[in-house]
Amino acid sequence: MSERNIIAIVDQRSASAPPATLPRIPELPAAPTGLLSDGRGRPLHDLRISVTDRCNFRCSYCMPKEVFDKHHQFLPQSALLSFEEILRLARLFVAHGVHKIRLTGGEPLLRKHLERLIEMLATLRTPDGTALDLTLTTNGSVLARKAAALKAAGLQRVTISLDAMDDAIFRRMNDVDFPVADVLAGIDAAVAAGLGPIKVNMVVKRGTNEQEIVPMARHFRDHYGGQVVLRFIEYMDVGATNGWRMDEVLPSADVQRLIAQHFPLDALEPSQPGETAERWRYRDGRGEVGFISSVTQAFCGDCNRARLSTEGQLYLCLFAQHGHDLRSLLRQPHPDGRPYRDDEIAAAIGLIWTQRDDRYSQLRASQPMDSASPSGRRIEMSYIGG
Ligand code: SAM
Ligand code: SF4
Ligand code: SF4
Repeated sequence: MSERNIIAIVDQRSASAPPATLPRIPELPAAPTGLLSDGRGRPLHDLRISVTDRCNFRCSYCMPKEVFDKHHQFLPQSALLSFEEILRLARLFVAHGVHKIRLTGGEPLLRKHLERLIEMLATLRTPDGTALDLTLTTNGSVLARKAAALKAAGLQRVTISLDAMDDAIFRRMNDVDFPVADVLAGIDAAVAAGLGPIKVNMVVKRGTNEQEIVPMARHFRDHYGGQVVLRFIEYMDVGATNGWRMDEVLPSADVQRLIAQHFPLDALEPSQPGETAERWRYRDGRGEVGFISSVTQAFCGDCNRARLSTEGQLYLCLFAQHGHDLRSLLRQPHPDGRPYRDDEIAAAIGLIWTQRDDRYSQLRASQPMDSASPSGRRIEMSYIGG
C-alpha cells in the first residue's frame, strides 16, 4: 500500500472547528423569493441541522476512540444554538426554498428535550404553504424509548444507521460494545410509531463489515414488508481523524452486484432531483435498496444541501474547509448597536448561497482514485452530521 492513499489520524483534542467568517449583509437586503440558486444553478432545498457534537458511540470511521477520548473538548452548552435560535434560522432557510430539514449530530437524540425543537420546526410552512419534510438521522440507541414521542412531536420519518447484523462485528464497529438487538428494537419502534418510510444506512468498510452486506439485505427485505429501505454508503474521506484509505472503500457497484447475485434487482428512477441514493427494487417485490456512492460517483451536480453546525456555522459542503458564522448575526449587535433583523440575516444567507461553488467529490473524481484528499482542516462528520 502506498503512503499517498492514507490520511493521517490527526489529534484534534484541542482543535476547534475550522474557521468561520462573519457573513456579509447586502446593502439593500432583498426579500427571499423561495427560488434561490447557487453559482452552478443548484437550488437550496435541503437543510441539515446538527443539534449536538456528542455521541454515545465511537464508530471508528467517524469518532475514533483514540481521538474522541476523555480529553476531547466538546462544545460547551453556551456555544450551542438554542432551540429558539435554530427555529429563527430554519424559518429564514424555509423562506429561501428549503423544503426538507434533517436533524443530525453527533447523536441527535442525546440533545435534551429534542421533541420540543421538533414541535417548533413542525409549525413551519414553505412559501407555498406545505409542511416541511422533517426527518432525523440516529444511531438508534435510544429510539425504542423515544420513537412514539418523536412522532407525536411532529417528526415525519427517521433514518437509522446500522452497520452489521452480526452482534460481534457491530459491537466492534460502534466501539462501545453496543448490541445490535437494541438498534433493531429502535427500528421496530419507529415502524410501530409510523415514522416511515424508514431508511437504514450501512457504511461499508472493506475488510471490516463487507461480509454483512448480504445478511443486512436479507434481514430488511424479509422482515418489514418493504417498509424499510436499506442503503449502502461508501466509506468517505470526510474529516481528518478516521485514517481513511481508498483501499477500504468498497465501491457501490460491487455491493450492488453482490446483492443481485442473491436477490435479483431492477433499477428505479430517482424520486426527486438531488437524491443522493441510487435506487433499486427487488424483482420479487420485497421492497427497495439504495446505494450512496459518495466516493466513486460524485453527485455534486445537483447537490442542494446546506449544513448548519451545532454552533450555528453554515457549511455549503460536507468537505468544506470553512463555515459562515450565522450565530454571530444572532448574538452580536449590528454596528449600529441594535440586533440584526431577520431580513438582514435572510439576505446574508441568500448571498452566501448564490456565491456557492462547492463540488468536492466531483473534483476529487477527476483525480486518481488512490490519491490522498486535499490537506487542510476539514469538518468532522460528528460535528456537522451526515
Ligand atoms: N449519530 C447519527 C447516526 O450515526 O446516524 C447521526 C450522525 S452520523 C455523523 C450521520 C451518518 O454519517 C451516519 O449514517 C453515519 O454512518 C455516516 N458516516 C459517518 N462517518 C462516515 C464516513 N466516514 N463515511 C460514510 N458515512 C459516514
Ligand atoms: Fe456517533 Fe453517528 Fe458518528 Fe457513529 S456515525 S460515532 S453514531 S455520530
Ligand atoms: Fe454536495 Fe459537497 Fe458532497 Fe459534492 S462533495 S455532493 S457539493 S456535499
